[in-house]
Amino acid sequence: MDIITAEQRSRNMAAIRSRNTRPELYMRKLLFSMGYRYSINSKKVPGHPDIYLKKYNTAVFINGCFWHRHEGCKYSYMPKSRVEFWQKKFEMNIRRDSVVKAELRDADVKCLVIWECSIKKMGKNPEFCSEILSAIAEFFKSQNLYMEL
Ligand SMILES: [Zn+2]
Repeated sequence: MDIITAEQRSRNMAAIRSRNTRPELYMRKLLFSMGYRYSINSKKVPGHPDIYLKKYNTAVFINGCFWHRHEGCKYSYMPKSRVEFWQKKFEMNIRRDSVVKAELRDADVKCLVIWECSIKKMGKNPEFCSEILSAIAEFFKSQNLYMEL
C-alpha cells in the first residue's frame, strides 16, 4: 500500500498545478502589506511566475518542497511505493524548473524562489519572518539575478 492515501495524492497532484495555494496567498498578503505591487501568474514572463513585480523586474516562485524537490528538506521525501513513477515525475519538474530559470536569466528577469518550508516557518516564527522579509527587500534592490530562501 502507498504511504499516502489516494485522496492525499490527488490533493498533492492538484497542488502543483493549482494557483492561489495557502503559502502563495500568505506571501502575496505580506508583500502587499509592505507596499509592493505585483501581478499574479503573468503570462508575459517566462515560467508564468506566481508573483511578478514589474518595478523590480523580479519573478517570484513559491515552490512546494515535495514537488520541486527541495534538497535536504524533510518535506522532499520519496514516497515508499511507485518509486519509478515518482522519480520520473520529479525529474520532469526539476528539468522544467531549470529551463524556466535559464529563460528568466536570458530575459534578464530576476528570479526569487521561496520554499514552502520557509513560509511555514515564517508563520510560526516572527523573527525568522522579518529576516526573510529583509532578505527579500534587499534582493529586490540588488543586482543579483537569483536567490532562494
Ligand atoms: Zn523545504
